[in-house]
Amino acid sequence: MPDEFVTENSLLGAGKVLVEQQVWETIIPFRQAHSAATEAGGILLGYRRGAHLHVVDATFPQPGDRRSRFRFTRAKQSHQHIALQRWKETSGTVDYLGEWHTHPESMPSPSSLDTAEWRKIYEPRAVPMLFVILGWSSHVWVGVGCGSRLEGTNCSPPAVARTNACDR
Ligand SMILES: [Zn+2]
Repeated sequence: MPDEFVTENSLLGAGKVLVEQQVWETIIPFRQAHSAATEAGGILLGYRRGAHLHVVDATFPQPGDRRSRFRFTRAKQSHQHIALQRWKETSGTVDYLGEWHTHPESMPSPSSLDTAEWRKIYEPRAVPMLFVILGWSSHVWVGVGCGSRLEGTNCSPPAVARTNACDR
């Protein structure tokens, strides 16, 4: 059994967030392990199963994204195009679940800019949206936004903790 990662969030009620190992494998190489590494990010794709969010795929930085040490602004079209492709390929079952990006800190937490940008994503939607920030070592911030609320915590998924931040 690959070590998928499961966490809870009060905004999901009995629902859980499940992130497949291949998602971590996609995003871990973008971790800001070096002082010069710029922020990276993309969107999270997967299934809504009842109250659960099951993440199976993630996009990574695309041409047109703006990346700096403390900021990542993704180009809208390229990531959305990939999301649309996946949605079509899977007969509309793999959907846009949220956003991920990296931070140049060990114990990541959302900036005021992050929460302002995310609010624009989750407030208009009637469904919970997922937000992940990947720190430079073993920690990840996982949050859910729904309605007018955002709740999240730091955690250390095995697939993230296991990989050495100095590998790249
Ligand atoms: Zn951020």
